[in-house]
Amino acid sequence: MKKQKIIVTGGCGYIGSHTTVALQNAGFDVVILDNLMNSQIDTLDRIAEITGIRPSFERIDCTDVNAMHDVFARHSDAMGVIHFAALKAVGESVAHPLKYYKNNILSLLNTLEMMLEFKIPNIVFSSSATVYGEPDQLPVTEDTPLKPATSPYGQTKIMAENIIRDTVKANPELHAVLLRYFNPIGAHPSGKIGELPIGVPNNLMPYVTQVAAGIREQLNVFGNDYNTPDGFCIRDYIDVNDLADAHVAALEHMKTNDVKVEVYNLGTGRGLSVMEIIKAFEDATGVKLNYTIAARRPGDVPAIWACSDLANEKLGWRAKIPLTETMRTAWQWQKNVSKL
Ligand code: NAD
Ligand code: UDP
Repeated sequence: MKKQKIIVTGGCGYIGSHTTVALQNAGFDVVILDNLMNSQIDTLDRIAEITGIRPSFERIDCTDVNAMHDVFARHSDAMGVIHFAALKAVGESVAHPLKYYKNNILSLLNTLEMMLEFKIPNIVFSSSATVYGEPDQLPVTEDTPLKPATSPYGQTKIMAENIIRDTVKANPELHAVLLRYFNPIGAHPSGKIGELPIGVPNNLMPYVTQVAAGIREQLNVFGNDYNTPDGFCIRDYIDVNDLADAHVAALEHMKTNDVKVEVYNLGTGRGLSVMEIIKAFEDATGVKLNYTIAARRPGDVPAIWACSDLANEKLGWRAKIPLTETMRTAWQWQKNVSKL
């Protein structure tokens, strides 16, 4: 039987590469569209080493409508698109808002236009927990009211969700699943793919592994005076491989259900403080972390974690990978990065 084709924008990136592996393992034929602005071409080789299949690759910028037209014309038999391609650094988005609006919004607009033109029916979109801002109730469900975005990056996610809703409303042949990711961490157990932050990491986990590897001197823990049980910020850290599986589950769900626009939180349902992450890393790897308590980081919400019951009920998906395993894969990946 012919494999079903999926277009994956941003497929060389952190979440996209793990999702490509999950899609290939589930029998999909993956075509990656990426301009490599935050990823490396060798990722394709490493995906092939894991799955035995090299994904098709189109090096294009999704903001380039002519290039998109050419690529979509050649892959118009795809049953869906997973749209990861975006810039994601919150701080950078505050300094360079137009860069973020242009890249993230134009990429989405072109993707939707091409899907309509070439009659590709299903889109899975990478949204984020950032759309909830500082929630009034925890855990957050998909019905928790959204808060105004505090950064241009967050704004692009809220705008993108609305753009997709409006487009589906006007074009009922289009079906959409919006996945709100919480905090993805960890790497593939093969040690061949993982997160590759350029420069100083913004996110906690790559910072932790770089300190452990001696690349950075110490971790700054941003704030210990929050109104949380231990005073540290709380997040819902989800293994990237679990997250990848949710994309496969979403596509399978879209094949057999009459989906219009559906939204799912992807988290573990468990909130962990920064200090609990530090301890979990030390316990899982045996490596002591050099850290210091620093001032709060502006814009950080004190606590957020997900209720992911809806994804469990409708998609049959649930985060499964134990935190210890996630810490080990993150560390293994860090040790391998220097050898790549
Ligand atoms: P990433 O930077 O590792 O991957 C994004 C990929 O998209 C990169 O390979 C980059 O080169 C590519 N890309 C960006 N703009 C492009 C363009 N105009 N044309 C073609 N390719 C382009 O990021 P990630 O962590 O894998 O995130 C994937 C998606 O998930 C993004 O939309 C991000 O906003 C969203 N998300 C990420 C997190 C997180 O913490 N990592 C959390 C919530 C949501
Ligand atoms: N954090 C930290 N030190 C760092 C990076 C992050 O203490 O060097 C904290 C941050 O304050 C937040 C948590 O780790 O409470 C997760 O931050 P991250 O940037 O990874 O994700 P966010 O939830 O902010 O998107």
